[in-house]
Amino acid sequence: MNTPVIELPLHGRSCEACGISNLRKVCEWSHVAVTRTRQWLFRNTITICETCGFTFLSPCYAPADLTQYYSDSYARFGGQALDFSPEKRLAFIDSVLASRQRGPVKGVIEVGGNADTAFQRGLGERFGVVSSYEPNAECGSDFADLGQAPESSYDLLVHYFILEHIADVRGFLRECRRLLRGGGVMILEVPDLMLYPHDISALILHEHCNHFTLENLAHLAALEGFELIDSSSTLCSRSFGFAAAFERLPDGAELPGHVVRCFDRNLAALDAGITRVTRFRELVEVTMDSLRCHPEWKVVLWGANDNLVKALPQGQKLSNAILVDSDPRKIHYHQAFRAILPSEALDALREADKLILFTRLHAPAILDWIEHHAGRRFADAVILDY
Ligand SMILES: [Zn+2]
Repeated sequence: MNTPVIELPLHGRSCEACGISNLRKVCEWSHVAVTRTRQWLFRNTITICETCGFTFLSPCYAPADLTQYYSDSYARFGGQALDFSPEKRLAFIDSVLASRQRGPVKGVIEVGGNADTAFQRGLGERFGVVSSYEPNAECGSDFADLGQAPESSYDLLVHYFILEHIADVRGFLRECRRLLRGGGVMILEVPDLMLYPHDISALILHEHCNHFTLENLAHLAALEGFELIDSSSTLCSRSFGFAAAFERLPDGAELPGHVVRCFDRNLAALDAGITRVTRFRELVEVTMDSLRCHPEWKVVLWGANDNLVKALPQGQKLSNAILVDSDPRKIHYHQAFRAILPSEALDALREADKLILFTRLHAPAILDWIEHHAGRRFADAVILDY
């Protein structure tokens, strides 16, 4: 892809919970992200509030710029395995609603669904018509923007792994509250900062503007008129997050008082995660160096995604390698390669000295596919994924 890199402008951001800027910068890194038609430079500064411990990007990107970026991003590619458990999402919803013993749920909306999966089908079976808002231009959406969705019209509003992408958390929560009826329920999932010492999936993704703990999230939500009514890690649809349910309090209700002092604990979790990220980057560097030191090796790289760009930034070449991806839209994803489909790579796979997989999730299916179609089992494939 040869489009110019769009540098996302940065804007000052103070702690949305405390309103003051008693902030500590923890780490900085940059990443060039590739979307369907453009490239974007993210310069992330992860910052922690020394008062409450809320962890977020400061400075941060403008919500309108991020909306543009997401509208051009790749929707999930049909046929790929789901990276979350629809059953757990539905089980948490069922459990929260059962515990409330209210009347039938009228009006359900999902924000940022981005797909039609067993989860959306499960919602449909339970609640009938489910509205959706999705900024990705490749996906269907009932509203051009969330502001067009009708006020006080929903008993249940859900969003999964959205809030960590939002540059204005309280503005987004305010919008969710506007859509819900009094007593309505908001159910959401986000990555859990407390799990970063063991899992850096959420820490390493350039798109994340916020790194939540349950305490920090409950605090922010309370400030926008929501009360935490339930939470669960075991019923979260991804292993690195938590699920939480909030009730929309009536207008003028007294908000639950919140004192959140999680700075030391959050900083320790963040630091442990950053140590893990550093180790991953070192593994990537050592692996790529070894490929460059052996120009005689024939190398197959599999996966046109962010991990590939981390290993081989745009502009860098690897002359002894070819790139394979099963998604035909990714043909020009990397400037140095024309990505080819697996079916076009059979000879290269049979002759390859090294196979590098940039995905852990899909690795077993890829290795099985290669064995079945190219007649070769790679026991020593290297997985460069965190
Ligand atoms: Zn704070």
